Amino acid sequence: DEDAALLDGTFEDADDDGLVRQDPVLAIVGRPNVGKSTLVNRILGRREAVVEDTPGVTRDRVSYAANWSGRKFTLVDTGGWEHDARGIHARVADQAEVAVGMADAVLLVVDSTVGITATDEAVVKMLRRSKKPVILIGNKVDDIVQESDAAMLWGLGLGQPWPVSAVHGRGVADMLDRVMEVLPEFSAVEGLERSGGPRRVALIGRPNVGKSSLLNKLAGSERVVVDPMAGTTRDPVDEFIELGDRTWRFVDTAGIRRRVHMAQGADFYASLRTQSALEKAEVAVVLLAVDEVLSEQDVRILQLAVESGRALVLAFNKWDLLDDERRRYLEREIEQDLAHVEWAPRVNISAKTGWHKDRLVPALDLALENWDRRIPTGRLNAFLGELVAAHPHPVRGGKQPRILFGTQASSRPPKFVLFTTGFLDAGYRRFITRRLRETFGFEGTPIEVSMRVRE
Ligand code: GDP
Ligand code: GDP
Repeated sequence: DEDAALLDGTFEDADDDGLVRQDPVLAIVGRPNVGKSTLVNRILGRREAVVEDTPGVTRDRVSYAANWSGRKFTLVDTGGWEHDARGIHARVADQAEVAVGMADAVLLVVDSTVGITATDEAVVKMLRRSKKPVILIGNKVDDIVQESDAAMLWGLGLGQPWPVSAVHGRGVADMLDRVMEVLPEFSAVEGLERSGGPRRVALIGRPNVGKSSLLNKLAGSERVVVDPMAGTTRDPVDEFIELGDRTWRFVDTAGIRRRVHMAQGADFYASLRTQSALEKAEVAVVLLAVDEVLSEQDVRILQLAVESGRALVLAFNKWDLLDDERRRYLEREIEQDLAHVEWAPRVNISAKTGWHKDRLVPALDLALENWDRRIPTGRLNAFLGELVAAHPHPVRGGKQPRILFGTQASSRPPKFVLFTTGFLDAGYRRFITRRLRETFGFEGTPIEVSMRVRE
């Protein structure tokens, strides 16, 4: 099956420990017509001329297994991702963003006969922020006379431009030698580490659900350190609390402790506080009180948490007040009104008695682990290959959109990009999202699936 063949995880090696090691990934970015696909063909050593003079030529793949002087790597061609109604600027920036998310190093190709454009500059800005190694290629340097054109590219501030002629092969060997110097032996992308420090938790919920009670219970006799920096400003204060042998940073606790339940504008205040806490946090604990029916405000706060893209844990508080009747009702409520967050781990607690407070840490850990998670490109494509083979996209107007390739462009939360030959139905996208969750878990984290359509 052709789709399965395109999607197989060929660039994955299992070593002796059974650990999956992936070939390092090199992505090629740049404006249309600078010669990216010519360069891809040159690197792959293909003779067939896939390149045509018409911009936006159909290309059949996104990533290729390549090698140079005995070393294997995966080459990702962003050249075909050009179907978009927006301006060229945004498209190239998009390409670059996805590329740097998945790559260990980036080749930025510039047409040295044209020189530096505003688009090139925008891309450079983005690439710089990524801190990934970038090799600047001045293409279309077909002879020595044109080398001075390439020298102009020093102006981009990326260091030495490598003069290359993708058409004639001039300079390509030197460029690849340089690429081998910056590419790691195995891809490091999957193992992206977070910046460190205690994990940041936002405790949120409408007034009276028990936030301050829970905070007190958690802090208990443990030493609570109030962030001295934040303490100098009037409102947001972070507290460091030891839980499960680790320190956690509870953000914006001043608003909880102060317990201002203003008569007027309380909603507005609460919503502001919630949003500001979410912004600073990595994981949100949304408190709900089981002795009362789920309110509009509960739902709104939950929505804010989901939209923030943070990891999420649901804490059903005041469990000590739950009677049988209310309990049956609660189960229905969860099924009906909380179906959209069924992926969030749930803990039943009593902030008043401290019952089950030790269940919070395992739930936080699970949610954060999935929030940080990266699915190796090979595994993801093996999954997509099987899924597409078993459940192809329905034919629409005589055409059947195909998925060429997928990658996890980023984590925290996990975001996936699918490269397709046509628009996937919303229903089919939801189906893929559901299968992703069934296959890989992702308890406690929102995930996002988007597509890039090529024509
Ligand atoms: P892409 O859109 O960036 O992938 O660019 P292509 O690889 O499709 O190339 C665009 C045009 O530039 C084609 O007409 C190529 O033949 C031409 N081109 C690519 N590389 C070179 C080169 O090194 N020298 C010259 N003179 N033309 C080139
Ligand atoms: P906050 O506004 O979200 O910070 O809520 P509080 O922590 O101030 O709690 C509001 C009220 O609910 C207080 O009277 C608490 O004593 C009570 N409360 C909080 N948690 C529990 C619980 O687990 N069980 C019971 N029975 N009462 C609770």
